[in-house]
Amino acid sequence: MEKRISGKTGLLGLIGSPVDHSGSPAMYNYGFQKLGLDYAYLAFDIPVEEVKDAIAAMKTFKMRGMNVTMPCKTEVVKHMDELSPAARIIGACNTIVNDHGKLTGHNTDGTGFVRNLKESGVEIKGKKMTIIGAGGAATAIQVQCALDGIKEISIFNVKDDFYLKAEKTIENIKKDVPDCIVNLFDLRDKNKLYEEIASSDILANATLVGMHPHEDKSSIEDTSIFRKELVVTDVVYLPRKTKMLADAEAAGCKTVGGIGMLLWQGAEAFKLYTGQEMPAQEIKELFFS
Ligand code: NAD
Repeated sequence: MEKRISGKTGLLGLIGSPVDHSGSPAMYNYGFQKLGLDYAYLAFDIPVEEVKDAIAAMKTFKMRGMNVTMPCKTEVVKHMDELSPAARIIGACNTIVNDHGKLTGHNTDGTGFVRNLKESGVEIKGKKMTIIGAGGAATAIQVQCALDGIKEISIFNVKDDFYLKAEKTIENIKKDVPDCIVNLFDLRDKNKLYEEIASSDILANATLVGMHPHEDKSSIEDTSIFRKELVVTDVVYLPRKTKMLADAEAAGCKTVGGIGMLLWQGAEAFKLYTGQEMPAQEIKELFFS
């Protein structure tokens, strides 16, 4: 019999669709149990059209919080009473905290990225980063890095709808963080890409390239551009070591995988819900290896 659940147990959850593959319930419930916190966490399959009802239910059930995944991350913004600076600039939330009926939307994808680098001994303040991608993960990273004091960001993307999204992101960053230099280039211009990487401290892939089942693909075709001083990081976490990271590692670069970003974005949300540090190291070993 479940001894942990009582009449007072608080509820948290994940909304989005699909969610049945999510590792979040296992991760959060383990953390709650480990720290003796009287909460339980479930995943709810919610399409965009049901976001309004899900938020109303969150208030009715006095849920402490919710994580939000695709395709609901932008839709939930409309229903928040307050937004964190990052969530406001990005225009998307992955974490909602319910303080007695007042909902605050946060975005911990970017903080997870920054923390993942920090845990690997890489500081972003004053640095230059070249980042490939302009989708959800990329935007969160770009905004958070600007807020956290990165000096310059060069964004590369193919000329799809995400390229237009990047133009808007740059406008928004410039309003809030005018000191941060942000450039946007067409990913087809490989000479420009390699030139920007040559003057960068950090290179990040924030596209789907290299993700299972296309493990043989890399955003960087010319591996001679990798130099030892360059930190190379990927948001893709399936596989744990993408081709880009393997190539960079072989060239002597420090590499940081995407699984840590996933872990730390969860840990940042855990702290927002509970005020406590998630037992990240244990969770990493149990669920993320
Ligand atoms: P998205 O759909 O919002 O963005 C996709 C991006 O990939 C866009 O910039 C698009 O232009 C680019 N892209 C797609 N196909 C491409 C191709 N063939 N060549 C070049 N660019 C291409 O997706 P997202 O939510 O930002 O997710 C991107 C990746 O990040 C996924 O692999 C996802 O699993 C991963 N992700 C990881 C974390 C984490 O915590 N590590 C968090 C969120 C997303």
